[in-house]
Amino acid sequence: MSVAPPPTVTLDARFARELAEMALPWQAEEAPDPRLVVLNEPLATELGLNPAWLRSSEGLRLLVGNLVPSGATPVAQAYAGHQFGGFAPRLGDGRALLLGEVVDADGHLRDLHLKGSGRTPFARGGDGLAAVGPMLREYVVSEAMHALDIPTTRSLAVVATGGSVRRETVLPGAVLARVASSHLRVGSFQYAWATGDVDLLRRLADHAISRHHPGAAESDQRYLALFEGVVAAQASLMAHWMLVGFVHGVMNTDNMTISGETIDYGPCAFMEAFDPAAVYSSIDVGGRYAYGNQPIVAEWNLARLAETLLPLFGDDQDQAVAMAVETLGAFRRQYSAAWSAGMRAKLGLPDGLDDDMASSLVDELLNLLQEGRVDHTSFFRSLGAAARGDTEPTRGQFLDLAAFDSWAERWRALTPDTDVMARVNPVYVPRNHLVEEALLAATEGDLDPLERLLDAVTAPYAERPGLERYAAPAPEDFGDYRTFCGT
Ligand code: AMP
Ligand code: MG
Repeated sequence: MSVAPPPTVTLDARFARELAEMALPWQAEEAPDPRLVVLNEPLATELGLNPAWLRSSEGLRLLVGNLVPSGATPVAQAYAGHQFGGFAPRLGDGRALLLGEVVDADGHLRDLHLKGSGRTPFARGGDGLAAVGPMLREYVVSEAMHALDIPTTRSLAVVATGGSVRRETVLPGAVLARVASSHLRVGSFQYAWATGDVDLLRRLADHAISRHHPGAAESDQRYLALFEGVVAAQASLMAHWMLVGFVHGVMNTDNMTISGETIDYGPCAFMEAFDPAAVYSSIDVGGRYAYGNQPIVAEWNLARLAETLLPLFGDDQDQAVAMAVETLGAFRRQYSAAWSAGMRAKLGLPDGLDDDMASSLVDELLNLLQEGRVDHTSFFRSLGAAARGDTEPTRGQFLDLAAFDSWAERWRALTPDTDVMARVNPVYVPRNHLVEEALLAATEGDLDPLERLLDAVTAPYAERPGLERYAAPAPEDFGDYRTFCGT
């Protein structure tokens, strides 16, 4: 490991300094032959990192953790988590490192983090590694989410290490450089709480307030205000996910952020045929994290967060519980309001429309979509043309034509706003079969499909000729899609 300070990179070590009990200084494994697979140049520039330098051999060594700028203290972060409902008191970064924090062009602190950088003391039985395919999946889907205006961690680069990773077959290894407004998770609070050290818990909460919910610092009840802030951020995030048909797949409490950013794109998928029971993850046998369960799971996870914060809410624990319950009660209202507003926009409904009328129209539509197993993304997009009188492409997606016609007639009588619809209904989402195709090709050394997919999904609202296949659902023979976690 060399410690040459590249002139362009300054990393702070604020988390490592303020929360040393949760930060284990550690080094990345040496990458034998780092080669760039993909670099996010606009994001690099936003972070004040020179893209040309990042492409150099020194830059690549930074991106795999083998060059540590002076002043930086790479750490594995400790966290706990409920995984499929069972509590694990010690998870932590088993194959990841926080390199440090960067101040971005807007003056905000952003974490620079690596995934796939080798075993850490939190690795348990894992090998600490990541394969090119799953790291590219995170890159593509997180950048697509960002382009869809959904809060998310970002992807700066994927670098192939030159080493290999043993999974079902031997695969090329890679490191993902990830950027987040922080990596604080519900599981981080569960870890601090489980140590029994209230001072650590308070420092963690203060750190979270300062980074994500600075307004809470003004409140007499700053920790309750922090909780309120997280509830609001997650309610909004869940509405975003539901409105685009995103299924996260592994909403364990260690995969839920305090910032409200989507994190950890393991077994995620975009739903095609509309179905609240849609599950893609091979390990989610009970459907705990099915599409339609996501808001309820988020609320459950927030209740776990509240439990950890009770010692900070005051000395009277009955009163602390009452405050937590009341604050958590806002989740359903905020989620419903955000989702309903989003649905109105997707359908282009006029502002003044009566709530009961809007909700009966939406409920009826969702039933029709489910019965007809209609493709979520192309349905909403095609509605734009339907509003202008070209109903056939939309109509053709339904089995019960009479029921659709009757719904569409009522909807069109409301003169839907097609400009609003075009702004919120994407043409291109990272469809599962196209993601698989791109990852497979990239694993074999062909980056063209990846680049074409990225081109489509990072400008999701602008319909472009030549990209028709990126707007269409998977062919029948793609079958039932399954995703795999932690690979
Ligand atoms: P995830 O399911 O990716 O959110 O990860 C859950 C936990 O497993 C975290 O503590 C990860 O650091 C750890 N983990 C996942 N894959 C590996 C691996 N290949 N080596 C070591 N730890 C891993
Ligand atoms: Mg995780």
